[in-house]
Amino acid sequence: MMGGGKGAWTPEQLATMERLRDAAMVDPYALNQLRHLTDNIGPRLSGSPQAQQAVEYVAAEMRALGAEVTLEKAMVPHWVRGAETAELVQWPGQTPGTTQKVVLTALGPSVATPPEGLTAEVVVVDDWKQFQALPAGAAKGRILLFNHKFDKELAAEGHGGAAYGGAVVYRGMGPVAGAAVGAMAVLVRSAGGADYRIPHTGMTDYAEGVARIPAASVTAEDADMLKNLASQGPVKLHLTLTPRTLPDAVSYNVIADWKGSEHPEQVVIVSGHLDSWDLGTGAIDDGAGVAVSMQAIHLLHDLGLHPRRTVRFVAWMSEEEGSEGAAAYMADHAAEVSNHVGAIECDLGADHPTGIYYAGKPALGQWLRPVAQVLDAIGAGNLESSRGVGEDVDGLTQKGVPSFAPVQDSRTYFNYHHTAADTFDKVDPKHLNETAALMTVLAYALADSAERAGSGE
Ligand SMILES: [Zn+2]
Repeated sequence: MMGGGKGAWTPEQLATMERLRDAAMVDPYALNQLRHLTDNIGPRLSGSPQAQQAVEYVAAEMRALGAEVTLEKAMVPHWVRGAETAELVQWPGQTPGTTQKVVLTALGPSVATPPEGLTAEVVVVDDWKQFQALPAGAAKGRILLFNHKFDKELAAEGHGGAAYGGAVVYRGMGPVAGAAVGAMAVLVRSAGGADYRIPHTGMTDYAEGVARIPAASVTAEDADMLKNLASQGPVKLHLTLTPRTLPDAVSYNVIADWKGSEHPEQVVIVSGHLDSWDLGTGAIDDGAGVAVSMQAIHLLHDLGLHPRRTVRFVAWMSEEEGSEGAAAYMADHAAEVSNHVGAIECDLGADHPTGIYYAGKPALGQWLRPVAQVLDAIGAGNLESSRGVGEDVDGLTQKGVPSFAPVQDSRTYFNYHHTAADTFDKVDPKHLNETAALMTVLAYALADSAERAGSGE
């Protein structure tokens, strides 16, 4: 029964949710797990020894709680960052005999320049319109800079995801577009709001039949400088990138089941992704998501709770480089999709959660009201409908599994995301605990409700 009337939970179940919420707000487990993943293990790039260490560590922690742990194999990209330097070697007003440093970082899975680097003139476009207006041959043999600005005002108003979405298309499609017009390399302006001259990495795409050219992200400050100088006259850049793409590596999703007492075959996923970019230590993206999901299992253990259905912790592998872990999960569990009663993913940062995104039947919002009331006490009671909630659970969402994510304050997320500044100190312990409370309460609610989420009208 959905949509009004008495809810799917008894007063006793709602009281249990309050206990879980209150425990999550004071329990240091999530913070301690995040500290270990970031400070002790460090960056967890797909295919790296640290990613493997993180798999083994998280699996052992979940086993220690008595969860049933499975490592689910996935073949993942293994790209390794190399040297990445750039200097202006010619520009209007240059002091003779000098160069000027440009701060940048390679995009994954960029190919390398020659080891000694390449030197070419820089052509700057602000957007696709300017790109399409380039005279024929204007970018041939040049370094093409896509100088599209991340919309900091939009982010400051709480629409960080929209600001990112507007910028990230240039990072994704720029190198193919540049190669198609003969560019030697492509630079993109960082797809984030960082000041302090910090470059922002992330994935770019190559296409079959189009030359793979080196691709890097420059800081917003350097993009502004290149645009200014190029408007005055010829600007030449010496660019050296030496990343390597090694053969795909064996890696794993970590799956830990807290078995259901009545319907163990029915599962609620509570999840984050274990891999990270390599410049920082992957605290907000997405060590925090893993840590708060681990906390859900930990608190069920500590409070001795065994909901009707299985709560399945998943630490996804390789979200950043193509969601190969999620694809493996969809392939391995294709026959059991109908047993997934809910999928929760936390991958939108680690700031204060204001509520829950839900994807599925519109009536899910009404159905979740009693849960939202429990979370209202920590300012996380807002329910927002969304078409999707996260990259890793999207395959399940597409197949009709009710899907959820914390709605997180995104005003500063993209200042640190995918940069060297994504480190443990960026996570406010109170906000992390709030997110852990939301994940734990929601996982319990979905796993113990009288009827399955989305089963009614
Ligand atoms: Zn992420």
